[in-house]
Amino acid sequence: MDLDRLITGIRDGDRRALARAITLVESGRADHRAQATQLLDAVTDPERQAIRIGLSGTPGVGKSTFTEAFGLMLTGQGLRVAVLAVDPSSARSGGSILGDKTRMEQLSRDPNAFIRPSPSQTELGGVARRTREVIALAEAAGFDVVIVETVGVGQSETLVAQMTDIFTLLLAPGGGDELQGVKRGIMEIADLILVNKADGEMKAQAGRTCADYAGALRLFRKRPGDPEDFPKALTVSAVTGDGIATAWDEMRTLVAHRRASGQFDKTRARQNRHWFDDAVRHGILRHLGSDPETRARMEELGAAVAAGDAAPSAAADRMLSLLFGGDRPD
Ligand code: GDP
Repeated sequence: MDLDRLITGIRDGDRRALARAITLVESGRADHRAQATQLLDAVTDPERQAIRIGLSGTPGVGKSTFTEAFGLMLTGQGLRVAVLAVDPSSARSGGSILGDKTRMEQLSRDPNAFIRPSPSQTELGGVARRTREVIALAEAAGFDVVIVETVGVGQSETLVAQMTDIFTLLLAPGGGDELQGVKRGIMEIADLILVNKADGEMKAQAGRTCADYAGALRLFRKRPGDPEDFPKALTVSAVTGDGIATAWDEMRTLVAHRRASGQFDKTRARQNRHWFDDAVRHGILRHLGSDPETRARMEELGAAVAAGDAAPSAAADRMLSLLFGGDRPD
């Protein structure tokens, strides 16, 4: 692998170089990891900053259709758009969202767009770590907007919110007046709720659903540095394109406001700190897991705990004493 060529390619915004760099970053091989770290370090340029948008929604809500319409609108304005995915199912099965590129046929052919399915890793944390690095690569390659899609199950929304500037929740018009079982925790991290499919027969219902969510959002505390009317709910139609330009305007307004208040940089700094902590923690665990003696001792103590012969915390203390010596603080 010619790292220098890859670095130049990324700086030049070459999509083939970006694709190859991503493959390197996603590789599990130790020598690839070392090269990936070197690459990330070399290409990082604080002057190149994309707007990173998290987009979450349950399967069928219209994520692909919306992303295609939204992405084409942006490329039509001369912006370069990267679409990535954090797919919790890829941790088991090898990926599904964005795996089928025909779903965004037009956007995938657009020279100003780059679409990449979720990395497949053994655990969701690994998927998220790699995706965060892919965002950094896309940003270094001069993309103006990076969209990170995820499906509304499990922990993936929180992970995506930790690597994006704006978190958007895509919903479908509800059948009744109850909020569609969207978890409070997800509502709390949403900057923008987009009620999709506001067209044809579903238009009126979409309006009512949107009003319900707008009401629900008012119960949450405004985030420091945000305009008074955020988080907010809007209706859109990925099919007719209605509301899509407004959604983009709202996103830009929010970003501009956060930049002016300093909150934008603060959030990114906090996110970087989070991923640093995460990488160190993960590295320690991986390091420990690679030592056969440590693994054997873990197994032994774990079995004792499972058999009821040792209390979990006492066994953990013994393990930690073996690893680091001395008395363990809490
Ligand atoms: P995803 O699973 O969230 O990516 O959803 P898709 O983008 O694949 O869309 C699921 C279905 O909803 C498809 O049949 C789309 O054609 C349809 N759909 C998506 N957006 C809209 C919309 O704005 N209006 C209508 N009427 N249908 C839509």
